[in-house]
Amino acid sequence: MAKILYVEDNPANRLLVRQVLEPAGHTLLEASDGPSGIRLAQDGQPDLILMDINIPGLNGYETTTRIKSLPGLAEVPIIALTAKVMAGDRERALTAGCDGYIAKPIDVDRLPRQINEFLSGRREKVTREEENIYLREYNERLVSHLEQKVKELSSANQDLTRTDRMKSRFIDMAAHELRTPLTTVRGYLGILTAPGNTFLANADDATLELIDGIVTGVDRLRGIVQDMLDVTRIEAGTLQLRQSPINLAQVYQKIGREFAPVVHKRQQMLTIGDASHVPTIWADGERVIQILRNLVSNAIKYTPDGGRIEISTEMMGTPPQPYLKITVADSGVGIPPEQLEKIFENFHEVRAIEHHSTSKTDFMGSGAGLGLAIARGVAEAHGGSLWAESPGYDPATFPGSKFYLILPFGQPPKD
Ligand code: ADP
Repeated sequence: MAKILYVEDNPANRLLVRQVLEPAGHTLLEASDGPSGIRLAQDGQPDLILMDINIPGLNGYETTTRIKSLPGLAEVPIIALTAKVMAGDRERALTAGCDGYIAKPIDVDRLPRQINEFLSGRREKVTREEENIYLREYNERLVSHLEQKVKELSSANQDLTRTDRMKSRFIDMAAHELRTPLTTVRGYLGILTAPGNTFLANADDATLELIDGIVTGVDRLRGIVQDMLDVTRIEAGTLQLRQSPINLAQVYQKIGREFAPVVHKRQQMLTIGDASHVPTIWADGERVIQILRNLVSNAIKYTPDGGRIEISTEMMGTPPQPYLKITVADSGVGIPPEQLEKIFENFHEVRAIEHHSTSKTDFMGSGAGLGLAIARGVAEAHGGSLWAESPGYDPATFPGSKFYLILPFGQPPKD
């Protein structure tokens, strides 16, 4: 008894053939379109394939030609089943690679016998002259089908580009609209909390704590809005850099000071290698700090309490193109190989959105997934690059991750 694959989009026909073939002892595999028929032919290795010709997408002729070209499937008989009985249908099917032809409607009394004949080696053939005629027609139809698909794809691609542009415009507009009231709120908070003013002179600790919470929340919101603006500028290639001479050792000191309290809270060890020997580089200092801040806060987030984070610097390349290679290494959960590039995409999130937290430093607290995309965009705007390496993700053994930042030394602007 045989394993038979039936490629047919009409479920009623599939049911009918099943009801005929299963009592005859055959096993039936079913596919409702060409691509899944091809996949099932490869995975299921059937003894015979019944192919409906009028199926959407890849039609039965094209699916047959493809299956016949696959290793191990050239010898499997494919029998065309078609309702549209036009002159030349049989020849068309045989020219495309079918080994037999059965006209619909299916004659349930004859079908098992017809199938047994093909299983026992019956093959139908066309003459060479017929094949030449139909091959030419088949090729012409294939090319016109291909042309239509290319048109559809390029129109779908245009739609996607338009939607993507709309998305960027929306993010940009939303960020701009949010920035103005936030700046006002932050300004009032600044006045309220400025040293020496009388507003809070008599406030108790609970009130001061509340105000402190509001300041933190507003600053975090401003950070998110700034990230949204950065993302759209990077996408549009309009990120402006303010180049100035940078002393890397001072940048590291700032990072060390900034993260000292959280590193202490998480009982982690942040080691920053000596950079006093590194010559002055020309870069946008605030933007370089933004990259390092992102890498270090991620390292803290994805490393358990008590873990290690290390920043080291190498001078590489030779004049006229020397560059710095800065490594931020951690002893954290690591990154699975298939995510190593994806984490640099906008809004990429490795874990579900419910894990998002407002904390930038809690263990495994995810954010909006913009940090690394921006960091890479900023590195590239400097003519550098940013990538990650990791042996894999393992929240039990902590294999760690390494982020590499390449930063050219840059040149003073010419006036
Ligand atoms: P998020 O706001 O989610 O932290 P990022 O763009 O900074 O966004 O990071 C994207 C993702 O990359 C994170 O959600 C995390 O899964 C992964 N990731 C980043 N840094 C590390 C790291 N040091 N160790 C492990 N995973 C990391």
